[in-house]
Amino acid sequence: MLNPVDSYLVRSAAGSILTLEDGSELVDGMSSWWSAIHGYNVPEINSAITTQLEKFSHIMFGGLTHTPAIELAERLLDITPPPLQHLFLADSGSIAIEVALKMALQFWSAQDRPEKNRFITIAGGYHGDTFATMALADPENGMHNRFNKVLRKPIVAPRPECAWDGKDYSAWSSSETTQQMNALNKLLQTHHKELAALILEPIVQGAGGMHFYNPNYLISARKLCDKYELLLITDEIATGFGRSGKMFAYEHTTAIESVTPDIMAIGKALTGGTMSLAATITTKKVVDGIAADGDGTLMHGPTFMGNPLACSAANASIDLLLASPWEERVKRIEQELQTGLAPCRDIDGVAAVRVLGAIGVIEMREPINMREIQPLFVAQGVWVRPFEKLVYLMPPYIISSKELKKLTAAVVAVLSQLQ
Ligand SMILES: *Cc1c(COP(=O)(O)O)cnc(C)c1O
Repeated sequence: MLNPVDSYLVRSAAGSILTLEDGSELVDGMSSWWSAIHGYNVPEINSAITTQLEKFSHIMFGGLTHTPAIELAERLLDITPPPLQHLFLADSGSIAIEVALKMALQFWSAQDRPEKNRFITIAGGYHGDTFATMALADPENGMHNRFNKVLRKPIVAPRPECAWDGKDYSAWSSSETTQQMNALNKLLQTHHKELAALILEPIVQGAGGMHFYNPNYLISARKLCDKYELLLITDEIATGFGRSGKMFAYEHTTAIESVTPDIMAIGKALTGGTMSLAATITTKKVVDGIAADGDGTLMHGPTFMGNPLACSAANASIDLLLASPWEERVKRIEQELQTGLAPCRDIDGVAAVRVLGAIGVIEMREPINMREIQPLFVAQGVWVRPFEKLVYLMPPYIISSKELKKLTAAVVAVLSQLQ
């Protein structure tokens, strides 16, 4: 992954196309890890960054503030659930999760319940690459298992075995619900006195295996958090800004107010894939709770917090998204992924094909040999970067039907070729 010899040199990037140094053009199926939702070299975002650059590129975010950050806070609080009223700007998704965990720990410590200092999560998750976030990843996950000995392990509930395809979820029977929730319920019953929060990715589990699960699970999980006095932390870093078909994945539930998290993390697409920025958003209850033991300061203050260039990029990206017919675009991509990837179901070695919003996933039975497969995709004129058993597409929302067809056809061709 870090070996530059294996990497392709990019000369330019615009729209959905990455152009390599040798002139070959690749249709981008990755949005640079979920982030470049508007494609590349977007004039509105570029100009927002350069306008800010001419004023100042950075100032310390302690005792000082700036308009791009204030405007970003307004925009974000506008599109997230009303109880979420307080915002912390973080440098990256992993840091946003670290901050969320610290918020939860400080909250319980300020309530004089310092023993509530562990976390519970669900298997199949991914929350970042720093130490606290690695610990939350699926213990089977190949990315992090070499560090297992030094990580402070959370309690891990089974992965929600209630696959979801985006259709009406009310059909999920109460017996299934009971079965699914029993495992989580049991763990909470045993451990709740030592637990600060439940952390999960709502509806779509990303890098931990690309599973989509029934929104009813989320509703029940929120109820259990209330019952056992845990905070609910939702990680919408991958799913935020429309990727799953809703602005945020929790909105797939029809009763949004019944799944409102106590703390929510966003990142990835926040700046439209241009600069590193993430945010941790929380409620007045949590902020007041943290304040109960003194000055109420959250113990986290990164040097480049609230970088004005990144905030300007985020403002431009959010404006662009809201002004665009993004819901229709994602719906169209969903349909074209369904149609385009359907032939994969007949290919030997394919275990499952799943589509939700602008996310198309092919799960293979065996891990993929990246060295072998990567050049095959490039030869097809597409940029697809498989991971372990997963070949997946999450293109920019502005991708044309023709470009998307090229992507799905390439996946079908390459997977057939492998057999
Ligand atoms: C990518 C990701 C993170 C980590 O974000 P970074 O910006 O890579 O640190 C955390 N959670 C989820 C769900 C992610 O997809």
